[in-house]
Amino acid sequence: MDPLVLLDQAVAQGKVPRSIATKVRKRMGVVQAAVERTESASGLRYPPYYVEPSLPCSKTGAEYGQMGALFARVIPTTVTGSVVVLVQFSAALVAFGTKGTIEAVAAHEFTHYVDLVRKMSTKDITSDEVVTTLYEASFRDAEHTVAPKLIFSEKALISLISRKFRDDLVDAALSKKAGDLWVAKDLPIHWVGPEENTLKVPMAVVAASRFDPAVLAKLAEIQKARR
Ligand SMILES: [Zn+2]
Repeated sequence: MDPLVLLDQAVAQGKVPRSIATKVRKRMGVVQAAVERTESASGLRYPPYYVEPSLPCSKTGAEYGQMGALFARVIPTTVTGSVVVLVQFSAALVAFGTKGTIEAVAAHEFTHYVDLVRKMSTKDITSDEVVTTLYEASFRDAEHTVAPKLIFSEKALISLISRKFRDDLVDAALSKKAGDLWVAKDLPIHWVGPEENTLKVPMAVVAASRFDPAVLAKLAEIQKARR
């Protein structure tokens, strides 16, 4: 999967200027390095990821009445009857985020991914549908992660995540750049409302899905350590 497919489309459609796409393309090495750091700290493979050309924004950000940009999210999708979890990095994050922020975000999203696999593989659900919230918009974001210290062996990465996240990502410089260089320039954004913020995956699809066996083994190990 080419992570820049949607961004290239947005450029072709005139929605995003080529200069932004060039900047994003130049910084994909930072994203790749962030993914590799997550993989080496967890010993697990990162799920497929892509760059989202429009900036998702939630009106229910941490500061009431303010717009909260959702710089990255975990998106469960279904592909030929099986759940595939994708990580979405916004073009604004890739263009304007520091290396440290992108590394913290990539690792944080990975903790959501592992949590989602845990929920779906244990079918820890009572209804006949799995309703997943796109957590970055939620106040209780941390409840939808597996604690970084249970997944990562690298102490510096664990403390980087806890420095950058207070439920939501806290990065004033990135928020300002996104405001000035993206939103104020009329680059594409889309509002994520509370309804849009949940995805429903039919139970039959979850049951038919095969998750990364290494992630399942890690989850079993975590579970065993808890007992
Ligand atoms: Zn989160």
